Amino acid sequence: MADGTEKREKSKKSGWLWPVGVMATGLAGAVVVALRGCWHRRMSWPVRGQGCAYQVCLGCGAKRLFDEDRFRAYGPYRYDLNELIAWSRVARMGKPAPPKVERPAS
Ligand SMILES: [Zn+2]
Repeated sequence: MADGTEKREKSKKSGWLWPVGVMATGLAGAVVVALRGCWHRRMSWPVRGQGCAYQVCLGCGAKRLFDEDRFRAYGPYRYDLNELIAWSRVARMGKPAPPKVERPAS
C-alpha cells in the first residue's frame, strides 16, 4: 500500500508535464517516455551531420534538431535522423518561424 501511494504521488508531481510533453514531441516522444522513462534531460553536445545540427540523448539515444544560431534544441525527438531532417524541411516550408513551442525571451 505504501509503495503504491508513493509512486502515485511522484507521478502526480510531474503530471502537468505530460500534456506539454505529448504536444511538443508528439506520439513518438510519449512512447519513448512510456517505454524508457527517459525525459532526455542529458543531451550530448550538438553534432553536425547530413547538413544539420542535432543533439543526441545520452540516456536513450533519441535525437533532436539543434539551432546553432539560437543555441537551443527544437522540434520533436526522433531516433532516426532522416525523420528529423524531413520534419525540419516540412516545418521550414510551412512557416519560416521556429516551432510553436515559443516562450517569451526572459
Ligand atoms: Zn532520452
